[in-house]
Amino acid sequence: MNDANKGRRAPGPESVIRADIRALRAYPVQHAEGMVKLDAMENPFALPRWLREQIGDAVRDAELNRYPDPHAPELKARLREVMAIPENCDILLGNGSDEIIAMVIHAAAAPGAVILSPVPTFVMYGMSSAIAKARFVGVPIAADFSLDEHAMAAAMEEHRPAVVFVSYPNNPTGNLFAEDALARLIERAPGLVVIDEAYQTFARRSFMPRLREFPNLMVMRTVSKLGLAGLRLGYAAARPEWIREIDKVRGPYNVGVLTQRVAGKVLEHHAVLEEQAVTLVAERKRLEHELAALSGVHPYPSEANFILARVRDAQAVFEGLKDRGVLIRTLHGSHPLLEQCVRFTVGTPEENSLLMRAMRDTLQGL
Ligand SMILES: *Cc1c(COP(=O)(O)O)cnc(C)c1O
Repeated sequence: MNDANKGRRAPGPESVIRADIRALRAYPVQHAEGMVKLDAMENPFALPRWLREQIGDAVRDAELNRYPDPHAPELKARLREVMAIPENCDILLGNGSDEIIAMVIHAAAAPGAVILSPVPTFVMYGMSSAIAKARFVGVPIAADFSLDEHAMAAAMEEHRPAVVFVSYPNNPTGNLFAEDALARLIERAPGLVVIDEAYQTFARRSFMPRLREFPNLMVMRTVSKLGLAGLRLGYAAARPEWIREIDKVRGPYNVGVLTQRVAGKVLEHHAVLEEQAVTLVAERKRLEHELAALSGVHPYPSEANFILARVRDAQAVFEGLKDRGVLIRTLHGSHPLLEQCVRFTVGTPEENSLLMRAMRDTLQGL
């Protein structure tokens, strides 16, 4: 250290990192070791042994010394076929759909640009907007969690959003908004509308075929909730003119060679995941039914692999389950419509039975 620097305080993040970033809270990930993990909408089933062997073969010869092909033609062709992506659309790949959300917002975030969503919804739309310095406008849904079409239309008129994000089904409420209302919304939107179909496998409803109709529509999905959360792969389909521009924001090698190979291999055997989803939907129905029978528990109808329920004391239910080895999410305090609400991810039949036993024990102790 030379004399001029003596007594100088080393620069810290307070003088470098934006104040609004320092004020942000990082996306919460709960410690889950040894717990029945029903907090993050993961598929609880492992892949069958024969498929894991094939994945081993597929990655064994991967050229790890080379950068991945940024265009991932084989994976995109597989996705197009398996997911019935219309021929008039191109595909954008992301390191999870979280990255696609960030790319879309970054590409659109001119000074003063607005990103709009019905709320409560997936937190990353607001979080990515904040990071990109776009203004996020949340339009409350109705008390029954349906889309307030009137309020959405009025907000679009007032704020002229560059991008509207709609989670379909909606996380964390679990319901699908009315398709005709959404179609009208896409028609009158002044910008891009992104329909986020992270839970499409469980809902069996999709705007994918309607990409033919709407030039300002993007349909985004992920393989995470389907059973491959560890891979980090999201994809979005839209008209080539949209994909071409948003693609410029993408880090050049954002999807690694292992993700490309493994996803391609699993998608060859897509039926395995579809069958697991069928089991999870049956289990969701069972859980809905059993939760509804508990006094003081009001589960909401869900089209996803999780159930939102209102209870008398969300924090006590969360803690009681945690003490009994079951990890869920409490949403109390995140939005007025979610007062005393908790969210259960649907697990294996055994895990769901454990959850129900822990719920009964917990409620008895309150
Ligand atoms: C989980 C989730 C995502 C993020 O998925 P990744 O592909 O794992 O990043 C996106 N949208 C919604 C609505 C989600 O619930």
